[in-house]
Amino acid sequence: MGIASWVDTHGHLTDEAFADDVAGVLARAQAAGVSRLLSIGTTLGSSRACLELAERTPGVWASVGIHPNHAAEAQTDDWAHIVALADHPKAAAIGETGLDRHWDFTPFPVQEDYFARHLWLARKVHKPIVIHCREAEADILRMLMADHQTHGPILGVMHSFTGGLSLAEAALRLGLYVSFAGMLTYKNAADLREVAARLPRDRVLLETDCPYLVPVPLRGAVKRNEPAHLIHTAACLASLWHMTPEAVAEQTTANACRLFRLP
Ligand SMILES: [Zn+2]
Repeated sequence: MGIASWVDTHGHLTDEAFADDVAGVLARAQAAGVSRLLSIGTTLGSSRACLELAERTPGVWASVGIHPNHAAEAQTDDWAHIVALADHPKAAAIGETGLDRHWDFTPFPVQEDYFARHLWLARKVHKPIVIHCREAEADILRMLMADHQTHGPILGVMHSFTGGLSLAEAALRLGLYVSFAGMLTYKNAADLREVAARLPRDRVLLETDCPYLVPVPLRGAVKRNEPAHLIHTAACLASLWHMTPEAVAEQTTANACRLFRLP
């Protein structure tokens, strides 16, 4: 077995939290074996910035999209620019998109409109969709199932998954992958660990969702999460799957490369 090589499938590397030391963050990721990562766009500006980072950094890819919590502030032309960026060779995914009833930054019908646009765009360019779901599980499933009825299975991921087994299994049936972030390691997340333990190994991804969701044991000790910290969530998954970290790396990296078509 070779040296473990991980993919952080969801980080916000162009967040202002990383403004001072992106180079250091990327170097620490490499040193930790996190050799590939997706920097996730949440606005037109951050989607452009993620692509610029990906263009100049081997091992980094971008997603382009408008996050539900930012949809209300999008300008009229922004979506047309996102559509144009989606063809970029380093745009590996569409999003992040989805629905969020926890925050009230964007009227819900506007969130639904943008989620539908991203579903359309992902199919148009044949790239996977990155889905954010917060306190909106029934709404997400309703829209995904309507889309599935018309168009069939969709490539993509339910990112930073916190739902139950039935939601995970519904997502898998629609064609999606399920991605776990640092929450998997939290003391109060026994139910989530039970879900992760039971999912098919070839449909699970790992992510940091940095700068958010610092995993245990760093939680509380550091304020900012970063891709190098993926290995703690990975260690948790390894114990749930009764596998070595190296075997989990091999499996989840193969999954990420298959979904996002990474070399
Ligand atoms: Zn995110």
